[in-house]
Amino acid sequence: MGFISLGCPKNLVDSEVMMGLLDRAGARLTARPEDAEILVVNTCSFIDTAKQESVDTILEMARHKTHGRAKKLIVAGCLVERYRDEIQKNIPEVDAVVGTGELESILQAAGLETPAHGVPQVPRTWGPGSPSTPSSPFTILTSTHAEIRSGKESQSGTHKSSESSRSSRKEGDARELSGRFLRDAWRGASSALPTYLYDETTPRLLSTPRASAYIKIAEGCDHPCTFCVIPNLRGKFRSRRFESVVAEAEQLVARGIREITLIGQDTTCYGEDLGLRDGLATLLDRLALIPNLKWLRFLYAYPNRITGKLLETIARHDNICKYLDLPLQHASPDVLKRMKRGAGADIFLKTLSKVRAAVPGIALRTSFIVGFPGESSSDFEVLEEFIGEAKFDWLGVFNYSHEEGSAAWSLDAQVPHRTIESRRRRLMRLQQSISRRAKKNWVGRELTLLAEGPSAETPLLWEGRTEFHAPEIDGNVFINDFGPIADLEPGRFYRARITESHDYDLVARILSTAN
Ligand code: SF4
Repeated sequence: MGFISLGCPKNLVDSEVMMGLLDRAGARLTARPEDAEILVVNTCSFIDTAKQESVDTILEMARHKTHGRAKKLIVAGCLVERYRDEIQKNIPEVDAVVGTGELESILQAAGLETPAHGVPQVPRTWGPGSPSTPSSPFTILTSTHAEIRSGKESQSGTHKSSESSRSSRKEGDARELSGRFLRDAWRGASSALPTYLYDETTPRLLSTPRASAYIKIAEGCDHPCTFCVIPNLRGKFRSRRFESVVAEAEQLVARGIREITLIGQDTTCYGEDLGLRDGLATLLDRLALIPNLKWLRFLYAYPNRITGKLLETIARHDNICKYLDLPLQHASPDVLKRMKRGAGADIFLKTLSKVRAAVPGIALRTSFIVGFPGESSSDFEVLEEFIGEAKFDWLGVFNYSHEEGSAAWSLDAQVPHRTIESRRRRLMRLQQSISRRAKKNWVGRELTLLAEGPSAETPLLWEGRTEFHAPEIDGNVFINDFGPIADLEPGRFYRARITESHDYDLVARILSTAN
């Protein structure tokens, strides 16, 4: 079987769960689509460009069915939640679809038998083609750059299990009543919202580079951000059980994982639906005690949920990375109000000062959307000025994508595409100069570095990351001098000195091994 995973790390974890299920059922993986008998594309449909990439990939894989050896094509993920009927109607090569709440149905979709302990049946999964007789061994492809860990390393749950959300947040219930999760605008989407959560017994095949893994601690989102359709795609916010997350982290570390990144649509809401106070801080406190866990971090924090307790927890544990990903989306109070996120530049600057005072040296990442309907040139100037003052270590800027089904769909005063693009470029130029100056201060610093392997750009260099670089999204640290080490090992930690800086990237010399 072949497996293509598109989109964000949250989707990647879904892919890893589906690959784990397939692996346990006897499927064989391949990285070559032309060798696969069954192809799975796990799609993203957050914004227009993601949808286009998903459709292009499905069509590309469909060619392996019409012209190659593939016998079955399965489409999974967010695109299915949004265009379930259309996919099956318009792309006849697609044999089955699997939504984000139906991961376990990948087995039936692939024609593999339901395991003995029984998978909850999710009838709405079926595509036009009925499931065929199991015909493993199959082969699986992954689009991720890293190797798929062998089946032997996959988590070996003895029974098939998953959680469904049992409770919800009051905020989510109120939003549901007000229609936040309605999919009426999407013809052909399933009416049922996903409720699925994997747990520590669900098999998972890791595809992230050696030593690193993501853990999804929650799924769905209750926030009302008017540009965003993720709640409509992924359902209401729901946390995994505390013990389940701890057990999964312990299993991963026992398998050699040294860096864990906690993810969810909003990690800072973790535990609220379980009745936990300070859920994320309490979880971090517990996970930080796992021996041999070298780096622990979380992504996707919501700005008004950065509590003193959370910061104190980050500061207190050596193995919690001094790193905070805080998507702010904009800085103009007017735009933020129309985005239904609230706050503005002044409040954000106070939050950032509080964060930096509580956790000295912390690296800050954020992302912004430019061109939200009604964004005036003065709104944009507020954002530009804010970025100049806030001095983020890492920053992403995204063009507004007009999504049917989002609350912003009905807003007028659309900003022309050319203006949006020129604003995005202007912000990226500004950030480039901020980053260039800041990175110069790194030269001469001694840091712990996780070696990831030879650089994709040139085999003469290796790449690594510090605790201030999250996997995949931040700049690179290129290693051009191995110092006293004859052969670096991917997935090992080293002490290194930064010797050069560029706009976003750094160059390092290895000094010694590190534990
Ligand atoms: S917090 Fe806002 S932007 Fe993020 S997933 Fe939830 S609704 Fe979307």
